[in-house]
Amino acid sequence: MQYPEPIAKLIDSYMKLPGIGAKSATRMAFYTIDMPADDVTDFAKALISAKRDLHYCSICGNITENDPCVICADKTRDQSKLIVVEQPKDVMSLEKMREYHGLYHVLHGVLSPIEGKGPEDLNITSLVKRLQDNEAIQEVILATNATPEGEATAMYISRLLKPAGLKTTRLAHGLAVGSDIEYADEMTLFKAIEGRTEI
Ligand SMILES: [Zn+2]
Repeated sequence: MQYPEPIAKLIDSYMKLPGIGAKSATRMAFYTIDMPADDVTDFAKALISAKRDLHYCSICGNITENDPCVICADKTRDQSKLIVVEQPKDVMSLEKMREYHGLYHVLHGVLSPIEGKGPEDLNITSLVKRLQDNEAIQEVILATNATPEGEATAMYISRLLKPAGLKTTRLAHGLAVGSDIEYADEMTLFKAIEGRTEI
């Protein structure tokens, strides 16, 4: 038996989300049709608004309602430091820390030969231009993830920036609290040891 078209479409839509297979999508679709009508309307409106009202900041590439974003527009922030991250959600995570008050640049991905992602697919040209145009920036902190692609991307950018004589640093990726050294990959361990601090 085929599902009626409206629910089949809803299942298809949920399946487009990352990590959602047919089984989860079907469960979510049936859950949705049992939800109060107002909640479903709010849900649909939130989806449309998130897509329609959010843009990428023309300076840093972060998601924002207004261009430039609040971080780029805030001249009280430390204009001498710039953290390079993979995704807008990384900016949110670093901001939650409340320890960093500098600038950001969002790459929107990492170099990945397997997925056919090269430098031209990332927000790198605008980074180089930004650093050329903005002499206040003294240090670029590469905060891509500690994955092989993240490491390769950080390496690529540091080589790119070297001729400009800019200070380029890399976040020390420590082990997660409570995680077993046994199960950590070598790169994580290397980073954890390299970034060690005296206690
Ligand atoms: Zn911005």
